Parts: sequence; C-alpha cells; structure tokens
Amino acid sequence: MATTATVHFERKPVFTLEMPFGQQMQIINHRFEPRWRSAVAEVTILSGLHGDELDGGLVCHMLSQFLQRLGNNWKLNGIVNILPNVNPLSGNLGQRFVPMMGSDLNRNFPGNHIGFESERLAAAIFGVTSQSLLCIDIHSSNNFLEELPQTRIVNEPAVVDWAATLDLDLIWTHSAHNWISGTIAQSLYERNINALVIEVGTGSRLNRLYCERVFRGILQCLRSLGVLTNGTPVSPSNALRANESNVTYLNAESGGLFVPASGLKLGDHLRRGARLGQIIDPLFGQETDVLVASSGVLFTLRVNPVVYAGSLVARILQT
Ligand SMILES: [Zn+2]
Repeated sequence: MATTATVHFERKPVFTLEMPFGQQMQIINHRFEPRWRSAVAEVTILSGLHGDELDGGLVCHMLSQFLQRLGNNWKLNGIVNILPNVNPLSGNLGQRFVPMMGSDLNRNFPGNHIGFESERLAAAIFGVTSQSLLCIDIHSSNNFLEELPQTRIVNEPAVVDWAATLDLDLIWTHSAHNWISGTIAQSLYERNINALVIEVGTGSRLNRLYCERVFRGILQCLRSLGVLTNGTPVSPSNALRANESNVTYLNAESGGLFVPASGLKLGDHLRRGARLGQIIDPLFGQETDVLVASSGVLFTLRVNPVVYAGSLVARILQT
C-alpha cells in the first residue's frame, strides 16, 4: 500500500486460487482512489484474459506507474482499478486458454463463484468490473496477425461516444446479435455497464509504440470522464469508423508463404488493384499476387507468413 497527498493506492488481491501442488495464484488489482473527496466515477482497465496477449500488460504498467507518480498539475477525481493480468494460469505458460480445462476465459462471463476454475476466475473479475461505470478490456491479436490500435464495440451511440474518447486509429462496431456470448464486454453490456474492447498489435509480442498510443488514449478517456483532470481540454477524436459492411477481407487463394509488398505497413492508404504482396511456393517457384480488392486503409496484416488457401492476409477499411 502507498499513499500520496491526494491519491490512495493499494495492490489488492481480488481472487486467490489454491494450486494443486501447494502454491497459490492471485489476481491483483491496482486500485487508485482520490483522498479527501468522493469519487465522480469508477473505471476498470484489465488485460490478459487471453494469456498470450501481452500488450495490455505493458499498457497497465504504464498507467499504474503514471498514477502512482501523478504530477502536480494532475488530479484524480475518481476510482481507477487496473487489473494487469487477470489470467495468470494462462499467462504463466504463454498460452491463450486456461490450462487443463482448455477453456477460453473470455467465454465464461459473468462466471460462477462455485463453478470450475475458469468460472471462478471470471466471477472474481466480473465482481470488480461490475462496480464500474466503464470497463476497458485490452487484447492483442492472435499470433498470426497485427492490428492497428482499435476499439471493437457494439453499435450503440452511447458506447461509440465512449470509444471515441480513446481516440485510437479505428472504431469497429458490430450489431448486438453478432456478439459472442460469454465475453466480459457482452456480459457487462447486459447489465448496462459500458465496455470498450481494445485490440492492438500481435499475440506473444509487444509493440511499444502501439502500447504508448493506447496508454495516451486511456488517459484521454479518463480525462473525458472527469476521473482525471490536468487543466487542458480533451482533443476531438479522429478515429476511422468501421462497421459490418465497409471492411474488405483479403484471404489467400493458395497455400505458401505470404510476402508483403516492400514498405507495406498498417495505416497505409491502398488503391484498388494495388499489389498487397505475393504468396510464393518455394518448392515449385510459383508466385501469386495478392491484390487490393477495394481502396481503403490497411488495418490488419498477416505477420506469420505461412498461409493455407483461405487464410486471412489483411483487412482493409473501405474509403
Ligand atoms: Zn484476446
């Protein structure tokens, strides 16, 4: 526990699981509360629901360090919970799913305090987030793709407004009936709690620049809520808007190695017909161009080169 003149900080265990061979696993909450005044709102930021997604851990570290050393021109007016690693069972092994059960923790919400270990983990995490006005759930992509920093949310005007405060590159909305059941975002939404899902970078990797961008975005979100203030106005959002009808998926037509075009990077504006890259067959020397099907902004790109016919190579926001 540590306390500054204006901020009370505590590392609070919110869940303990006895391990089969005598050790304990804990979920730790970095909880920040304003001293001397009542909180305007409570916000929870969490990462690591999938144990092989690591960017959120760095973002949470940056946020916690920032709040522990809050500068004189900053004020904390609300409660901030930071859960840097909510799935240590998977994170310790660098695995996506909960070991033994093989369960996706992000399909177990709202959880069950007397259920299997995944359900108990989910119930403990849900217990913290369900006290909040807003929850920010940080994910990386899988090990095959790289994602431009983006917010994925249900297409509700109020939630879109919350997402805009993050000012990431992209807001990608989906309709409520296309939501995957059992995710923390869906479970919170059913209880009228706003949830923003951030996707950034690549699984099993850290992208420092993207993490710094998400860190700044969350600070801006907290300032928009009034949870943090520093006396300067919040910048308007420039996020691109994707939905279920303006995203083009580029899939491999054949198996081989995907070789992106020289200099290609996320955020590039691409013209219809341009060459995104090639799929090469090193055994027989075949080369197949991957062409851009519609003009737009590249926001997902394959980083693991091994593809089968049908593998996702890129996603483009049509412009
Ligand atoms: Zn994930």
